[in-house]
Amino acid sequence: MKSARSPVAVWRGRDLLDGRVVESTTVILRTRGCRWNRCVMCGYAQEGVDASAEDIIAQFRSILERVRDAELVKIYTSGSFLDPVEVPEAARLDILRSLRDTNVRRLVIESRPEHIDRPALEQILSFMDVEIGIGLESSSDLVRRHLINKGFTFSDFARASDLIHSLGGRVKTYILLKPPGLSEMDAIADALRSAIDAEPHSDIISVNLCNVQRNTPLERMWQRGSYRPPWLWSAVEVLRDSSLGVPVICDPVGAGAKRGPHNCGRCDEYVADAIRSFSLSQSRADLNVDCSCRSVWRKVVELEDVSFGTPLV
Ligand code: SF4
Ligand SMILES: [Zn+2]
Repeated sequence: MKSARSPVAVWRGRDLLDGRVVESTTVILRTRGCRWNRCVMCGYAQEGVDASAEDIIAQFRSILERVRDAELVKIYTSGSFLDPVEVPEAARLDILRSLRDTNVRRLVIESRPEHIDRPALEQILSFMDVEIGIGLESSSDLVRRHLINKGFTFSDFARASDLIHSLGGRVKTYILLKPPGLSEMDAIADALRSAIDAEPHSDIISVNLCNVQRNTPLERMWQRGSYRPPWLWSAVEVLRDSSLGVPVICDPVGAGAKRGPHNCGRCDEYVADAIRSFSLSQSRADLNVDCSCRSVWRKVVELEDVSFGTPLV
């Protein structure tokens, strides 16, 4: 049963921090979830409970020991950490105070642009170095609005990120590889274009590979056979071809699963490992991987046309 006093998940990992690979901890706090809750691929709100400030404080205190010695801590909420309805200010302050007495050098949180305002930013940045993740998904307002239903514009994103930078914070921009309604080729082109457009507003870009989450409009498309998650080769292509002045990373969550990004089944783990290595090293040499299914993927990129309504493979 979901308890308002226990977080959704906590795990240790390794991440890039100013060009160095460091120990990190990721915490997913259980909150009421994202108030927007309308993006076609997102099922996060189903993890939500009506958590009060006291509940959220208790959740964080219960895992504080696992955070203490990490240099980088990511605190996610399946929504917006800066939304005061989702994470009441008292909870936010308590978490920030607890982190001040640890080895944590950088905190990473996530927020939609409409919750990013000067008072909230000044408050969190007075405690520590903070990076704010914004799910831009695509730099195309058409893709974001009509295919994802994200509910904000590129200008909203740019305004929020400029404010963060003006106050000394950092911006991590998420780009979604393969929103529904784009062919494999168009999805690669959209992600590459988006990375170029987002770069001036970002300190790091994270390419998120679309997963089919339960009870979402995307799941219904997938069940009808009109959506296939991206090939891992497409992610390799985007990472290899995005030559930017900021790091580009990718965590291939769900790689190899039917609902996640996948290739032929034989090479999925191997290619996902290459993507993870690249994300830490930023060395293209890590992406020198191959499998016989790569030629099938090339044909899909060449021929797939979403106007047929069905993915090729
Ligand atoms: S803004 Fe983020 S958390 Fe909210 S519905 Fe969209 S993808 Fe989900
Ligand atoms: Zn393969």
